[in-house]
Amino acid sequence: MPAIYDLGTPPPLGMIPERMHASVIRRERYGEPQVAFQREEVTVPRPGPGEVLVYVMAAGINYNNVWAALGKPLDVIAARRQRGQSEDFHIGGSDGAGIVWSVGDGVTNVAVGDPVVLSCGVWDPNAPDIQAGADPITSTSARTWGYEENWGTFAQYALVRDYQCHPKPPHLSWEEAAAYMLVGATAYRMLTGFAPHDVRPGDPVLIWGGAGGLGVMAIQIVRELGGIPIAVVSGAERAAYCLKLGAHGVIDRREFHHWGRLPDLDDPVATAEWARGARAFGERFWDVLGERRNPRIVFDHPGEQTIPTSTYVVDRAGMVVICAGTSGYNADVDLRHLWMRQKRLQGSHFANTEQCAALNQLVSDGRISPCLSQVYGFDEVAESHQAMFENRHPPGNMAILVNATRPGMTEAPWAGTAAPVVAQ
Ligand code: NAP
Repeated sequence: MPAIYDLGTPPPLGMIPERMHASVIRRERYGEPQVAFQREEVTVPRPGPGEVLVYVMAAGINYNNVWAALGKPLDVIAARRQRGQSEDFHIGGSDGAGIVWSVGDGVTNVAVGDPVVLSCGVWDPNAPDIQAGADPITSTSARTWGYEENWGTFAQYALVRDYQCHPKPPHLSWEEAAAYMLVGATAYRMLTGFAPHDVRPGDPVLIWGGAGGLGVMAIQIVRELGGIPIAVVSGAERAAYCLKLGAHGVIDRREFHHWGRLPDLDDPVATAEWARGARAFGERFWDVLGERRNPRIVFDHPGEQTIPTSTYVVDRAGMVVICAGTSGYNADVDLRHLWMRQKRLQGSHFANTEQCAALNQLVSDGRISPCLSQVYGFDEVAESHQAMFENRHPPGNMAILVNATRPGMTEAPWAGTAAPVVAQ
Protein backbone atom coordinates (compact mmCIF):
# COMPACT_ATOMS: atom_id res chain seq x y z
CA MET A 1 0.00 0.00 0.00
CA PRO A 2 1.47 3.42 -0.95
CA ALA A 3 2.30 5.71 1.98
CA ILE A 4 0.18 8.53 0.52
CA TYR A 5 -2.60 8.71 -2.08
CA ASP A 6 -3.47 11.50 -4.47
CA LEU A 7 -6.54 13.60 -3.67
CA GLY A 8 -9.60 11.79 -4.97
CA THR A 9 -7.85 8.44 -5.36
CA PRO A 10 -8.97 6.46 -2.31
CA PRO A 11 -7.24 3.41 -0.93
CA PRO A 12 -9.50 0.37 -0.45
CA LEU A 13 -12.33 1.37 1.92
CA GLY A 14 -11.12 1.19 5.50
CA MET A 15 -7.39 0.98 4.72
CA ILE A 16 -5.60 3.93 6.34
CA PRO A 17 -2.51 5.23 4.54
CA GLU A 18 0.43 6.46 6.56
CA ARG A 19 0.34 10.05 5.30
CA MET A 20 -2.12 12.53 3.79
CA HIS A 21 -2.26 15.87 2.02
CA ALA A 22 -3.34 18.70 4.30
CA SER A 23 -3.59 22.49 4.32
CA VAL A 24 -1.65 23.41 7.42
CA ILE A 25 -1.13 26.48 9.62
CA ARG A 26 2.08 26.81 11.66
CA ARG A 27 2.83 29.39 14.34
CA GLU A 28 5.69 30.94 12.35
CA ARG A 29 3.22 31.64 9.51
CA TYR A 30 0.49 33.30 11.61
CA GLY A 31 -0.86 36.29 9.70
CA GLU A 32 -3.21 36.92 6.81
CA PRO A 33 -4.75 33.70 5.52
CA GLN A 34 -2.95 33.97 2.18
CA VAL A 35 0.37 33.29 3.91
CA ALA A 36 -0.77 31.23 6.89
CA PHE A 37 -2.16 28.19 5.04
CA GLN A 38 0.26 25.93 3.14
CA ARG A 39 -0.08 22.46 1.71
CA GLU A 40 1.98 19.82 3.52
CA GLU A 41 2.07 16.05 3.99
CA VAL A 42 1.07 14.93 7.48
CA THR A 43 0.70 11.60 9.32
CA VAL A 44 -2.90 10.33 9.27
CA PRO A 45 -4.37 10.08 12.79
CA ARG A 46 -5.90 6.76 13.97
CA PRO A 47 -9.33 6.75 15.67
CA GLY A 48 -9.36 5.98 19.39
CA PRO A 49 -12.36 4.85 21.45
CA GLY A 50 -15.50 6.75 20.45
CA GLU A 51 -13.73 8.35 17.49
CA VAL A 52 -14.34 8.17 13.75
CA LEU A 53 -11.90 8.72 10.88
CA VAL A 54 -13.64 10.34 7.91
CA TYR A 55 -12.43 10.42 4.31
CA VAL A 56 -13.15 14.08 3.56
CA MET A 57 -14.90 14.73 0.25
CA ALA A 58 -15.43 18.46 0.78
CA ALA A 59 -14.84 21.04 3.50
CA GLY A 60 -16.81 24.14 4.43
CA ILE A 61 -15.18 27.55 4.90
CA ASN A 62 -15.89 29.49 8.07
CA TYR A 63 -14.66 32.67 9.66
CA ASN A 64 -13.11 30.76 12.57
CA ASN A 65 -10.15 29.70 10.45
CA VAL A 66 -9.54 33.31 9.50
CA TRP A 67 -9.00 33.76 13.24
CA ALA A 68 -6.87 30.58 13.36
CA ALA A 69 -4.68 31.92 10.54
CA LEU A 70 -4.22 35.27 12.30
CA GLY A 71 -3.22 33.49 15.50
CA LYS A 72 -5.51 35.82 17.46
CA PRO A 73 -7.50 36.40 19.53
CA LEU A 74 -6.53 32.80 20.29
CA ASP A 75 -3.23 31.14 19.39
CA VAL A 76 -4.92 27.81 18.66
CA ILE A 77 -1.68 25.82 18.45
CA ALA A 78 -0.24 27.15 21.73
CA ALA A 79 -3.59 26.62 23.46
CA ARG A 80 -3.75 23.00 22.35
CA ARG A 81 -0.17 22.31 23.35
CA GLN A 82 -0.90 23.79 26.77
CA ARG A 83 -3.63 21.20 27.10
CA GLY A 84 -1.03 18.50 26.48
CA GLN A 85 -1.55 17.80 22.79
CA SER A 86 1.64 17.23 20.84
CA GLU A 87 1.08 18.52 17.29
CA ASP A 88 2.87 21.77 16.51
CA PHE A 89 0.56 22.52 13.56
CA HIS A 90 -3.11 23.24 12.99
CA ILE A 91 -5.34 21.50 10.46
CA GLY A 92 -8.46 23.63 10.41
CA GLY A 93 -11.86 23.04 8.89
CA SER A 94 -14.91 22.90 11.17
CA ASP A 95 -17.36 21.83 8.49
CA GLY A 96 -17.22 18.93 6.11
CA ALA A 97 -18.83 15.97 4.45
CA GLY A 98 -17.27 12.62 3.67
CA ILE A 99 -17.25 8.87 4.13
CA VAL A 100 -16.76 7.03 7.40
CA TRP A 101 -13.39 5.31 6.89
CA SER A 102 -12.59 3.71 10.21
CA VAL A 103 -14.26 3.65 13.63
CA GLY A 104 -12.77 3.31 17.11
CA ASP A 105 -14.00 1.01 19.85
CA GLY A 106 -17.51 1.63 21.07
CA VAL A 107 -18.76 3.52 18.00
CA THR A 108 -22.25 2.29 17.10
CA ASN A 109 -24.03 5.21 15.42
CA VAL A 110 -22.11 5.00 12.12
CA ALA A 111 -20.39 2.26 10.11
CA VAL A 112 -17.54 2.25 7.62
CA GLY A 113 -18.82 3.45 4.26
CA ASP A 114 -21.56 5.75 5.64
CA PRO A 115 -21.81 9.21 4.01
CA VAL A 116 -21.82 11.81 6.77
CA VAL A 117 -21.97 15.53 7.48
CA LEU A 118 -19.84 16.69 10.42
CA SER A 119 -20.71 19.07 13.23
CA CYS A 120 -18.00 20.93 15.10
CA GLY A 121 -19.03 21.01 18.76
CA VAL A 122 -16.98 18.63 20.91
CA TRP A 123 -17.04 17.99 24.65
CA ASP A 124 -16.26 15.34 27.21
CA PRO A 125 -19.51 13.46 27.87
CA ASN A 126 -18.08 12.48 31.28
CA ALA A 127 -17.35 16.08 32.32
CA PRO A 128 -18.85 16.76 35.77
CA ASP A 129 -21.06 19.61 34.49
CA ILE A 130 -22.52 17.45 31.72
CA GLN A 131 -23.03 14.58 34.12
CA ALA A 132 -24.86 17.06 36.36
CA GLY A 133 -27.23 17.92 33.51
CA ALA A 134 -25.61 20.86 31.68
CA ASP A 135 -26.28 21.32 27.98
CA PRO A 136 -23.01 19.85 26.55
CA ILE A 137 -22.26 22.90 24.40
CA THR A 138 -22.19 25.02 27.57
CA SER A 139 -19.76 22.61 29.31
CA THR A 140 -16.34 23.79 30.44
CA SER A 141 -15.07 20.89 28.30
CA ALA A 142 -16.77 22.16 25.10
CA ARG A 143 -14.50 23.12 22.19
CA THR A 144 -14.75 23.79 18.48
CA TRP A 145 -13.23 21.00 16.44
CA GLY A 146 -11.27 22.25 13.42
CA TYR A 147 -10.44 25.40 15.40
CA GLU A 148 -9.61 24.73 19.06
CA GLU A 149 -9.21 21.02 18.26
CA ASN A 150 -6.99 19.65 15.50
CA TRP A 151 -7.66 17.27 12.60
CA GLY A 152 -10.30 19.30 10.77
CA THR A 153 -11.45 18.93 7.19
CA PHE A 154 -8.70 20.79 5.33
CA ALA A 155 -7.04 17.40 4.83
CA GLN A 156 -7.77 14.07 3.20
CA TYR A 157 -8.85 12.57 6.53
CA ALA A 158 -10.53 14.19 9.52
CA LEU A 159 -10.77 12.78 13.03
CA VAL A 160 -14.05 13.33 14.89
CA ARG A 161 -16.09 12.02 17.86
CA ASP A 162 -18.97 9.70 16.93
CA TYR A 163 -21.66 12.23 17.93
CA GLN A 164 -20.28 14.70 15.36
CA CYS A 165 -21.52 12.49 12.50
CA HIS A 166 -24.93 13.18 10.94
CA PRO A 167 -26.50 11.52 7.89
CA LYS A 168 -25.58 13.30 4.66
CA PRO A 169 -28.69 14.57 2.86
CA PRO A 170 -28.63 12.34 -0.25
CA HIS A 171 -29.83 15.09 -2.61
CA LEU A 172 -26.84 17.33 -1.88
CA SER A 173 -23.44 17.29 -3.56
CA TRP A 174 -20.47 16.82 -1.27
CA GLU A 175 -19.61 20.50 -1.36
CA GLU A 176 -23.20 21.55 -0.58
CA ALA A 177 -23.28 19.06 2.30
CA ALA A 178 -20.02 20.51 3.62
CA ALA A 179 -21.21 24.10 3.66
CA TYR A 180 -24.07 24.55 6.11
CA MET A 181 -23.70 22.79 9.47
CA LEU A 182 -21.58 25.26 11.44
CA VAL A 183 -23.49 28.38 10.50
CA GLY A 184 -26.84 26.59 10.27
CA ALA A 185 -26.73 24.94 13.68
CA THR A 186 -25.37 28.13 15.28
CA ALA A 187 -28.24 30.16 13.84
CA TYR A 188 -30.74 27.44 14.81
CA ARG A 189 -29.68 27.55 18.47
CA MET A 190 -29.74 31.36 18.50
CA LEU A 191 -33.28 31.44 17.14
CA THR A 192 -34.82 28.44 18.95
CA GLY A 193 -32.62 27.69 21.97
CA PHE A 194 -33.49 30.47 24.42
CA ALA A 195 -37.17 30.20 25.28
CA PRO A 196 -39.35 32.15 25.59
CA HIS A 197 -37.36 34.05 22.97
CA ASP A 198 -37.69 31.47 20.25
CA VAL A 199 -39.13 32.70 16.96
CA ARG A 200 -42.93 32.61 16.91
CA PRO A 201 -45.13 33.10 13.86
CA GLY A 202 -45.35 36.80 13.09
CA ASP A 203 -42.27 37.81 15.11
CA PRO A 204 -40.15 40.46 13.35
CA VAL A 205 -36.46 39.46 13.53
CA LEU A 206 -33.57 41.77 12.65
CA ILE A 207 -30.61 39.87 11.14
CA TRP A 208 -27.21 41.54 10.82
CA GLY A 209 -25.01 40.40 7.92
CA GLY A 210 -28.01 38.83 6.19
CA ALA A 211 -26.01 37.69 3.16
CA GLY A 212 -23.19 36.19 5.23
CA GLY A 213 -22.82 32.58 6.32
CA LEU A 214 -24.86 32.97 9.52
CA GLY A 215 -27.27 35.45 7.99
CA VAL A 216 -28.44 33.26 5.10
CA MET A 217 -29.20 30.49 7.56
CA ALA A 218 -30.96 32.85 9.97
CA ILE A 219 -33.20 34.26 7.23
CA GLN A 220 -34.28 30.78 6.18
CA ILE A 221 -34.85 29.51 9.74
CA VAL A 222 -36.95 32.56 10.66
CA ARG A 223 -38.91 32.12 7.41
CA GLU A 224 -39.52 28.43 8.17
CA LEU A 225 -40.69 29.24 11.71
CA GLY A 226 -43.17 31.79 10.37
CA GLY A 227 -41.27 34.85 11.60
CA ILE A 228 -40.56 37.99 9.58
CA PRO A 229 -36.83 38.20 8.74
CA ILE A 230 -35.44 41.66 8.01
CA ALA A 231 -31.81 41.65 6.94
CA VAL A 232 -29.05 44.26 7.19
CA VAL A 233 -26.41 44.22 4.44
CA SER A 234 -23.93 46.39 2.60
CA GLY A 235 -24.68 46.55 -1.11
CA ALA A 236 -27.38 45.85 -3.67
CA GLU A 237 -26.18 42.38 -4.65
CA ARG A 238 -26.33 41.21 -1.04
CA ALA A 239 -29.75 42.83 -0.59
CA ALA A 240 -31.12 40.99 -3.64
CA TYR A 241 -29.72 37.71 -2.32
CA CYS A 242 -31.50 38.13 1.03
CA LEU A 243 -34.81 38.99 -0.64
CA LYS A 244 -34.55 35.88 -2.81
CA LEU A 245 -34.06 33.77 0.30
CA GLY A 246 -37.26 35.09 1.84
CA ALA A 247 -36.23 38.22 3.74
CA HIS A 248 -39.29 40.44 4.15
CA GLY A 249 -37.07 43.46 3.54
CA VAL A 250 -33.51 44.73 3.69
CA ILE A 251 -31.67 47.69 5.23
CA ASP A 252 -28.38 48.89 3.72
CA ARG A 253 -26.17 49.73 6.69
CA ARG A 254 -24.05 52.11 4.59
CA GLU A 255 -26.87 54.66 4.80
CA PHE A 256 -26.25 55.10 8.54
CA HIS A 257 -23.20 56.38 10.37
CA HIS A 258 -23.76 56.04 14.10
CA TRP A 259 -21.98 52.67 14.39
CA GLY A 260 -19.52 51.69 17.05
CA ARG A 261 -19.14 52.50 20.71
CA LEU A 262 -21.48 54.88 22.50
CA PRO A 263 -20.32 58.45 23.04
CA ASP A 264 -19.61 59.56 26.59
CA LEU A 265 -22.82 60.67 28.31
CA ASP A 266 -20.96 63.85 29.34
CA ASP A 267 -20.89 64.79 25.66
CA PRO A 268 -24.52 65.80 24.96
CA VAL A 269 -23.85 66.80 21.35
CA ALA A 270 -22.32 63.46 20.38
CA THR A 271 -24.94 61.60 22.42
CA ALA A 272 -27.77 63.41 20.64
CA GLU A 273 -26.21 62.68 17.27
CA TRP A 274 -25.84 58.99 18.13
CA ALA A 275 -29.48 58.85 19.26
CA ARG A 276 -30.60 60.47 15.98
CA GLY A 277 -28.75 57.76 14.02
CA ALA A 278 -30.14 54.91 16.10
CA ARG A 279 -33.69 56.32 15.95
CA ALA A 280 -33.44 56.70 12.17
CA PHE A 281 -32.29 53.10 11.91
CA GLY A 282 -35.26 51.98 14.05
CA GLU A 283 -37.65 53.99 11.89
CA ARG A 284 -36.18 52.38 8.77
CA PHE A 285 -36.92 49.01 10.35
CA TRP A 286 -40.59 50.05 10.77
CA ASP A 287 -40.71 51.27 7.14
CA VAL A 288 -39.33 47.99 5.86
CA LEU A 289 -41.63 45.96 8.12
CA GLY A 290 -44.62 48.09 7.11
CA GLU A 291 -45.76 48.74 10.70
CA ARG A 292 -44.44 50.33 13.89
CA ARG A 293 -43.22 47.17 15.60
CA ASN A 294 -39.69 46.64 16.86
CA PRO A 295 -37.79 43.38 16.33
CA ARG A 296 -38.66 40.81 19.01
CA ILE A 297 -35.27 39.20 18.36
CA VAL A 298 -32.08 40.79 17.04
CA PHE A 299 -29.55 38.32 15.60
CA ASP A 300 -26.13 39.90 16.22
CA HIS A 301 -22.54 38.86 15.47
CA PRO A 302 -20.66 42.01 14.30
CA GLY A 303 -20.57 43.00 18.00
CA GLU A 304 -18.87 46.27 18.86
CA GLN A 305 -20.18 48.16 15.84
CA THR A 306 -23.78 46.97 16.17
CA ILE A 307 -24.61 46.05 19.79
CA PRO A 308 -25.51 49.60 20.89
CA THR A 309 -28.02 49.77 18.03
CA SER A 310 -29.26 46.20 18.58
CA THR A 311 -29.99 46.78 22.26
CA TYR A 312 -31.66 50.10 21.42
CA VAL A 313 -34.00 48.85 18.66
CA VAL A 314 -34.96 45.47 20.12
CA ASP A 315 -38.53 45.41 21.42
CA ARG A 316 -39.55 45.66 25.06
CA ALA A 317 -38.93 42.25 26.66
CA GLY A 318 -37.22 41.18 23.44
CA MET A 319 -33.83 39.51 23.04
CA VAL A 320 -30.54 40.42 21.38
CA VAL A 321 -28.75 37.12 20.81
CA ILE A 322 -25.06 37.28 19.89
CA CYS A 323 -22.47 34.68 18.89
CA ALA A 324 -19.44 36.76 17.83
CA GLY A 325 -17.71 40.12 17.84
CA THR A 326 -16.30 40.32 14.31
CA SER A 327 -15.96 44.11 14.49
CA GLY A 328 -14.64 44.15 18.10
CA TYR A 329 -15.46 42.91 21.59
CA ASN A 330 -15.76 46.10 23.60
CA ALA A 331 -19.42 46.72 22.91
CA ASP A 332 -21.34 49.36 24.86
CA VAL A 333 -24.87 48.92 26.19
CA ASP A 334 -26.98 51.75 27.52
CA LEU A 335 -28.22 49.84 30.55
CA ARG A 336 -31.23 52.10 30.97
CA HIS A 337 -32.79 50.58 27.86
CA LEU A 338 -31.92 47.10 29.03
CA TRP A 339 -33.50 47.23 32.46
CA MET A 340 -36.35 49.70 31.99
CA ARG A 341 -37.62 47.82 28.94
CA GLN A 342 -36.67 44.43 30.37
CA LYS A 343 -34.61 43.41 27.37
CA ARG A 344 -32.37 40.35 27.26
CA LEU A 345 -28.80 40.19 25.94
CA GLN A 346 -28.03 36.52 25.35
CA GLY A 347 -24.72 34.90 24.37
CA SER A 348 -24.76 31.81 22.22
CA HIS A 349 -22.07 29.49 20.88
CA PHE A 350 -22.55 26.79 18.23
CA ALA A 351 -25.13 24.11 19.16
CA ASN A 352 -25.74 20.82 20.92
CA THR A 353 -26.24 17.48 19.14
CA GLU A 354 -30.04 17.73 19.10
CA GLN A 355 -29.91 21.22 17.57
CA CYS A 356 -27.45 20.00 14.90
CA ALA A 357 -29.74 17.07 14.12
CA ALA A 358 -32.81 19.33 13.88
CA LEU A 359 -31.03 21.67 11.49
CA ASN A 360 -29.76 18.72 9.46
CA GLN A 361 -33.34 17.44 9.18
CA LEU A 362 -34.54 20.80 7.84
CA VAL A 363 -31.81 20.62 5.20
CA SER A 364 -32.55 16.95 4.42
CA ASP A 365 -36.22 17.84 3.98
CA GLY A 366 -35.23 20.49 1.44
CA ARG A 367 -36.63 23.31 3.60
CA ILE A 368 -33.25 25.00 4.14
CA SER A 369 -30.70 25.47 1.38
CA PRO A 370 -26.97 25.34 2.15
CA CYS A 371 -26.70 28.53 0.05
CA LEU A 372 -23.44 27.40 -1.46
CA SER A 373 -22.18 30.23 -3.63
CA GLN A 374 -18.55 29.43 -4.36
CA VAL A 375 -16.52 26.24 -4.66
CA TYR A 376 -12.74 26.25 -4.46
CA GLY A 377 -10.09 23.63 -5.20
CA PHE A 378 -7.97 22.13 -2.43
CA ASP A 379 -5.07 24.46 -3.15
CA GLU A 380 -7.30 27.48 -2.58
CA VAL A 381 -7.87 27.11 1.17
CA ALA A 382 -5.70 30.21 1.69
CA GLU A 383 -7.43 32.29 -0.99
CA SER A 384 -10.96 31.39 0.17
CA HIS A 385 -10.13 32.54 3.72
CA GLN A 386 -8.38 35.65 2.43
CA ALA A 387 -11.57 36.60 0.53
CA MET A 388 -13.55 36.15 3.74
CA PHE A 389 -11.00 38.15 5.74
CA GLU A 390 -11.36 41.04 3.27
CA ASN A 391 -15.19 40.75 3.22
CA ARG A 392 -15.07 40.32 -0.59
CA HIS A 393 -16.58 36.83 -0.61
CA PRO A 394 -19.91 36.30 -2.38
CA PRO A 395 -23.21 36.05 -0.49
CA GLY A 396 -23.85 32.68 1.14
CA ASN A 397 -21.40 29.91 2.00
CA MET A 398 -18.21 28.60 0.44
CA ALA A 399 -16.68 25.13 0.28
CA ILE A 400 -13.53 23.48 -1.01
CA LEU A 401 -13.26 20.17 -2.80
CA VAL A 402 -10.95 17.82 -0.93
CA ASN A 403 -11.23 14.25 -2.24
CA ALA A 404 -14.20 15.09 -4.47
CA THR A 405 -12.65 15.44 -7.91
CA ARG A 406 -15.33 17.68 -9.41
CA PRO A 407 -18.27 19.80 -8.23
CA GLY A 408 -21.67 18.12 -8.23
CA MET A 409 -20.64 14.64 -7.05
CA THR A 410 -23.21 13.16 -4.66
CA GLU A 411 -21.82 9.64 -4.40
CA ALA A 412 -18.75 7.86 -3.11
CA PRO A 413 -15.74 8.15 -5.45
CA TRP A 414 -16.13 4.50 -6.44
CA ALA A 415 -19.83 4.88 -7.46
CA GLY A 416 -20.53 2.99 -10.66
CA THR A 417 -17.68 0.59 -9.99
CA ALA A 418 -17.49 -2.26 -7.51
CA ALA A 419 -17.21 -0.82 -3.96
CA PRO A 420 -13.82 -1.47 -2.39
CA VAL A 421 -13.67 -4.22 0.18
CA VAL A 422 -13.93 -3.01 3.78
CA ALA A 423 -10.61 -3.63 5.50
CA GLN A 424 -10.81 -5.84 8.60
P1 NAP B 1 -19.51 36.21 6.99
O1 NAP B 1 -20.01 35.22 5.98
O2 NAP B 1 -18.28 36.97 6.73
O3 NAP B 1 -20.72 37.22 7.24
C1 NAP B 1 -20.64 38.25 8.18
C2 NAP B 1 -21.41 39.45 7.66
O4 NAP B 1 -21.35 40.45 8.66
C3 NAP B 1 -20.79 40.06 6.43
O5 NAP B 1 -21.38 39.49 5.28
C4 NAP B 1 -21.11 41.53 6.57
O6 NAP B 1 -22.29 41.81 5.83
C5 NAP B 1 -21.50 41.70 8.02
N1 NAP B 1 -20.59 42.65 8.66
C6 NAP B 1 -19.23 42.69 8.61
N2 NAP B 1 -18.76 43.73 9.31
C7 NAP B 1 -19.86 44.36 9.81
C8 NAP B 1 -20.04 45.52 10.61
N3 NAP B 1 -19.00 46.26 11.04
N4 NAP B 1 -21.29 45.90 10.92
C9 NAP B 1 -22.35 45.20 10.49
N5 NAP B 1 -22.25 44.09 9.72
C10 NAP B 1 -21.01 43.69 9.40
O7 NAP B 1 -19.30 35.51 8.40
P2 NAP B 1 -20.25 34.50 9.19
O8 NAP B 1 -19.91 33.11 8.80
O9 NAP B 1 -21.67 34.96 9.08
O10 NAP B 1 -19.71 34.72 10.66
C11 NAP B 1 -19.83 35.98 11.30
C12 NAP B 1 -19.10 35.96 12.64
O11 NAP B 1 -19.71 34.98 13.48
C13 NAP B 1 -17.62 35.58 12.55
O12 NAP B 1 -16.90 36.34 13.50
C14 NAP B 1 -17.61 34.10 12.95
O13 NAP B 1 -16.36 33.69 13.49
C15 NAP B 1 -18.71 34.09 13.99
N6 NAP B 1 -19.37 32.80 14.19
C16 NAP B 1 -19.52 32.36 15.48
C17 NAP B 1 -20.13 31.15 15.72
C18 NAP B 1 -20.29 30.64 17.10
O14 NAP B 1 -20.72 29.51 17.30
N7 NAP B 1 -19.95 31.39 18.13
C19 NAP B 1 -20.60 30.38 14.65
C20 NAP B 1 -20.50 30.88 13.34
C21 NAP B 1 -19.86 32.10 13.14
P3 NAP B 1 -22.57 43.22 5.13
O15 NAP B 1 -21.23 43.85 4.84
O16 NAP B 1 -23.33 42.82 3.91
O17 NAP B 1 -23.39 44.00 6.13
